[in-house]
Amino acid sequence: MYSCSCLCGKARFEITSKIQNIVFCHCSQCRKAQGSAFATNGNVDTAEFKFISGENELTGYVPSPGQTKYFCKHCGSPIISKNESNPNMVRIHLGVIESDISERLIDHIFVTSKANWEDIEGDLPKYESYEPSR
Ligand SMILES: [Zn+2]
Ligand SMILES: [Zn+2]
Repeated sequence: MYSCSCLCGKARFEITSKIQNIVFCHCSQCRKAQGSAFATNGNVDTAEFKFISGENELTGYVPSPGQTKYFCKHCGSPIISKNESNPNMVRIHLGVIESDISERLIDHIFVTSKANWEDIEGDLPKYESYEPSR
C-alpha cells in the first residue's frame, strides 16, 4: 500500500496495487503541467486507488478532449489524470507518493519534445512518442 498526499496535505489517497507502466514523459504538455523537465507517471486500476481525504479539494483542467488533469486547488500539486477512453485506469503523478515504491521506471517517452536544456541520462529505452507497444 502506498500513501500519497499533495504539498499542502489536504488531499490524501492510497494505492493498494502495484503501479504499472511508470515512464518519464518529456512532452511539452507534461513539462508545463509539472513545471519541470519531465513528468513521472504511472497507471493504477481505479479500484486500487482510494481517497482518504480531500477529494473535493481537487480541481480539474481539460488539456484535450476526454482527458482531465486533477490538481489540488490550494497548493497546485498535480495529483492524477483520467482519460475517458480508459475509465478503469488512473494516471498517477509519482511525486505525490510518500512511500518508497518497489516498481521501477521502464522508459523515456516523447524524447524529441524534450527541453533543449535537458540531458537525458541512463540506460532506459528512449522513444520519440509513445512506446511502439502502446
Ligand atoms: Zn494541496
Ligand atoms: Zn507527456
